[in-house]
Amino acid sequence: KTFLDLGLNERYVKALSEKGIETPTKIQEQGIPAIIEGKNVVLHSQTGSGKTLAFVLPLLEKLDETKKDLQALIVAPTQELAMQIFQEVKDLTKDTPYEVEAFIGSGNIKRQLEKLKKVKPQLVVGTPRRIIELAESKLKMHHVQAVVFDEADRQILDRKSNEDYVQLERKMPGNCQFIFASATATPELMNRLSQKVSDPVFISVD
Ligand code: AMP
Repeated sequence: KTFLDLGLNERYVKALSEKGIETPTKIQEQGIPAIIEGKNVVLHSQTGSGKTLAFVLPLLEKLDETKKDLQALIVAPTQELAMQIFQEVKDLTKDTPYEVEAFIGSGNIKRQLEKLKKVKPQLVVGTPRRIIELAESKLKMHHVQAVVFDEADRQILDRKSNEDYVQLERKMPGNCQFIFASATATPELMNRLSQKVSDPVFISVD
């Protein structure tokens, strides 16, 4: 299968091709259509298997360029990971009208709030605490259609991180699609996820 077969817009296929990415990996082949369909999805595969693009691409596909609200949110447990994901998002959206922003904990919060007065990002990548802080003022969650928790095991199972996760989860609108990415899938994680979201589709690739 090609990226076009998976339902992706030609402009992303072209942008991928420019990076030398031509053929979807297994997790992309299974994950992209499920996320485009709007299912709650757990992506389970090793680091290096192309998990990032497996959620970034369908998320971009869902954005409505005529709407200026925040529509998609990607939450990563570390600043470094958030910035890596953001770089992939940036590369893919460089020739599109989409506004995308990264908000991480080491960034100056005043400047981030100033930015939010001027630009209305349609997709945001960030770290949990900072997203929560911004959501308490300028960053509106009402229209978020899909949220991704990358390295979900770390965000959900760690007791301290879990407090942030629970807060964020509560801020999502009722009809929001949940996507979890993880390199480990312990029974405990699976258990928690099936309690929280309805009918998650579990996509596991080795
Ligand atoms: P990830 O597992 O998301 O950390 O991705 C690992 C690396 O694989 C990244 O550098 C990606 O750019 C690259 N990559 C992702 N998808 C593909 C693909 N379909 N073909 C070739 N390389 C890819």
